[in-house]
Amino acid sequence: MDTDVIIVGAGPVGLFLANELGLAGVRAVVLEKLSKRSGQSKAGGVQPRTAEVLDLRGLLSELKKQALPREAIGGHFAGLPVPLDCRPWNTRYPFPLSIPQGRIEAFLEEKLTRYAIPLRWGQTIIGLEQDESGVTALVSGPAGETHLRARYLVGCDGGHSMVRKLVGVDFPGRDGKFSMVVADVRLAGGTGKVPTHTKHFSEHIQHNENVIGILSPLGDGVSRLMFGGPEQQVLARDAPITETEVRTALRASYGSNIELQEILWASRFSDASRQVEHYQVGRVFLAGDAAHIHLPTGGQGLNLGLQDAFNLGWKLAAQVQGKAPAGLLESYHTERHPIGARVLQNTRAQGLLMMLQGDEDGSALRGLFIDLMRLSEANRYLSGMISGLDVQYAMPGADSSELIGRRMLDLDLYSPTGQTRVSQLLHAGRGLLLDLGNHDDLAAVVAKWSAQVDYIQASTPAGFVGSAVLVRPDGYICWAEENTSPDVETALCTWFGSC
Ligand SMILES: Cc1cc2nc3c(=O)[nH]c(=O)nc-3n(C[C@H](O)[C@H](O)[C@H](O)COP(=O)(O)OP(=O)(O)OC[C@H]3O[C@@H](n4cnc5c(N)ncnc54)[C@H](O)[C@@H]3O)c2cc1C
Repeated sequence: MDTDVIIVGAGPVGLFLANELGLAGVRAVVLEKLSKRSGQSKAGGVQPRTAEVLDLRGLLSELKKQALPREAIGGHFAGLPVPLDCRPWNTRYPFPLSIPQGRIEAFLEEKLTRYAIPLRWGQTIIGLEQDESGVTALVSGPAGETHLRARYLVGCDGGHSMVRKLVGVDFPGRDGKFSMVVADVRLAGGTGKVPTHTKHFSEHIQHNENVIGILSPLGDGVSRLMFGGPEQQVLARDAPITETEVRTALRASYGSNIELQEILWASRFSDASRQVEHYQVGRVFLAGDAAHIHLPTGGQGLNLGLQDAFNLGWKLAAQVQGKAPAGLLESYHTERHPIGARVLQNTRAQGLLMMLQGDEDGSALRGLFIDLMRLSEANRYLSGMISGLDVQYAMPGADSSELIGRRMLDLDLYSPTGQTRVSQLLHAGRGLLLDLGNHDDLAAVVAKWSAQVDYIQASTPAGFVGSAVLVRPDGYICWAEENTSPDVETALCTWFGSC
C-alpha cells in the first residue's frame, strides 16, 4: 500500500476529511486535478450545525475571524422574507456565518499542514480498480500516469465526480429545469441598491423583467452576483459567460447606473437534483457533491458535504486502525443517505416556491407559506432542517429516546479539572462518556475503552435531561442513561468495538 486512504478532490469536503484523518493519525493522500486553488466564491455560508461541528474540533474561533460583516439574522427558506430562528435549538451559533467557500478551503488547507498528509495538485484520477485488500487509482499528472494504491478511497470530487462514474453507482434524480449564472464581479456605481453587508437573503433578491438577480458582498470590493432569466435558459451549460450577458442581467435587476468593471470568475449552475444510491461501493466512498447535487438555495450543499466528511472521518480512521466494530463503516451510508435525501426534497420545494414569484396563484401560495413561517413551531421545524441542527441518526435506542441519535448540546461544564464546555472535550476526536449524575459504576465500565473514549464527571449549570451520555467523536449521542436505553457496555461495543 502507498497509503491508507486516497482522498480525491481538495474542495471543502476533501480537505475537511483529510483533517479528520490527520487528527486520528491515519496515513492519507489528497489528489486535486487543479494546479492551484480557483478562489471562486461559490458557497457563502456556514450554517449553525456546521459552526458547531467546526467548534468540536477547535477550528471555529480562528475561521470566524474571516467572516464577512453580516446582520445577526437567521437563514432563509426559498428566499421568503421570514428569517429562520435557530434559537429554540439551543445552539451557541443561531445565525449563519458569511464565509466565502474559497476562504474556508484556504483555511482547511492551511490546517492540513499540521499533519503529514500531502495535497498533490495537478493530479486527476482517471481510472480505479478495487479488490479484497485495496483500491488502485490510475492518476494523470504533469509527469504522466501513475498508479497509487490504498486500502480505501473517498471521492470528494464534486458534482461531476469521476470516482462516481468509475465505480458505476447509479445517480438517480432529474436534470436541471432552470439555469443560472454565478459570477464574482467588481462593480462601480449603482450605490443604494448594491448591498455593503450581508442582510437576510430575501433582501438581496431583485426580481425584474423575468430576471432574478441576487447580489451580495464578498469583501475586498468584490460582489457575488447570481442571476437567471430567459436568456440563461436557452444557453448551453458550457456556453461562455460574456461581459454582455452579465451586464444585461445586472442592469435588469439593479438599474442602468450600475457598471460592471471586471468578472473575476463565473460559472453556470442549475436546479438539477440527484443523489447516489449508495455512498459506499466496496472500499470506495462518496462524500459531498460527488454524492448529491441540488439547487443551492438555503445554503446547504457545502454544509451537507462537510457533515458527510465529519460522519465518515472517525469511522474510516477506526477501520484503518483495526478498531472499528462490525458495521461501523456501513453506518456512513445508512446515516448520511437519508439526510442528503431530505435536503434534495427541501431544495426542490424551495425551487418551486422561488419560481412562483410573479405568478398570481403562486403569490397566493407564497403568501400562505410566509404566514406559516411566522408560526413558531413551523419556523422551528424549518430552521432545524435548513441549519442541520435537527439531524437525528437512526441508532439502536433512538426510537424511544429524546437524546440518542441527536447532537450533544455544547453545555458549560464544571469538572474536577476546572470549567470547560462539551465541545472542548471533543477536540481530540475521541468518544466521550459524560457523567452528569455521579454514577459509581461508569468509570469502571469505560476503562476497557480508555484508548478511544474519555470519561468525565461534571456538572452543568444549564440543566440537562440526561444524567449520563455517551457521545461519538462526531458529537452525536449514542447512549443515554434512560429507562429504555440499552446498557452502556452494549453501546460502547457497538460504536467503539473491542468486544
Ligand atoms: C452558486 C452557488 C452557491 C452556493 N451557495 C452555497 C451556500 O451558500 N451554502 C452551501 O452550503 N453550499 C452552497 N453551494 C454548494 C457548494 O458550493 C458545494 O456543495 C460545495 O462546493 C461542495 O464541495 P465538495 O468538496 O463536495 O465539491 P467541490 O467544491 O466541487 O470540490 C471538488 C474538488 O474535486 C476536484 N476534482 C474533480 N474531479 C477530479 C478528479 N477526477 N481528480 C482529482 N480531483 C478532482 C475539483 O477540482 C474540486 O477541487 C453553492 C453552490 C453554488 C454553485
